[in-house]
Amino acid sequence: MAQNEYEELLNRASGIFSKSTQSEARLKIPDPDIIREGKSTIVRNFQDIADMINRDPKHISKFLMKEFGIGVTISGRRLIINRKVTYEQISSKISQYIDSYVNCYECGSPDTEFLKVGRTNLLSCKACGAQHPIKLARESRFEETQLEEGKQYVVEITEKGSSGEGRAMFRGYSLFVPGAKKGETVKVLIKRIKRGMAIAEVVDKE
Ligand SMILES: [Zn+2]
Repeated sequence: MAQNEYEELLNRASGIFSKSTQSEARLKIPDPDIIREGKSTIVRNFQDIADMINRDPKHISKFLMKEFGIGVTISGRRLIINRKVTYEQISSKISQYIDSYVNCYECGSPDTEFLKVGRTNLLSCKACGAQHPIKLARESRFEETQLEEGKQYVVEITEKGSSGEGRAMFRGYSLFVPGAKKGETVKVLIKRIKRGMAIAEVVDKE
């Protein structure tokens, strides 16, 4: 497969991926807009993200501080993280936040609010009426979310994609594996990574 064909498949996949995510969650989360300044990482659109998911920026920043184990500061519309963190790490933490504190555990609607009953914090859904004690969604550890181009991994193909390619979720990434079939366990070589997706080539089948 030629390099530009990978690019094309990834672009097409990107469209499909974001469309299905949007309709499921009914929530469009802006991509974190990240820059580095010295040893710090700055999320330039932090306020936009908070507005979009309708949560207090302070609550999100507290969560990130705890999760990353480092200092973070809100500065105007931006968030300053006192360490180098990758786009993937931030994205993964924001989606963990949303799974924990925004999306209804029953119906998935983001139309929810916090409710305190006695000592218990509940996530209360305006769409379906469900109320659940807030619990932290399962996190994906740093090490495990790392995926590198040019490296090989063993993955299990769990789905067939719309272009006939094999699909797998691996370390928080959606893998597109042309030539692999659902149910197969294959050794793949990562060709290209883009946002939360990657194209992989089959090296070996087990
Ligand atoms: Zn609900």
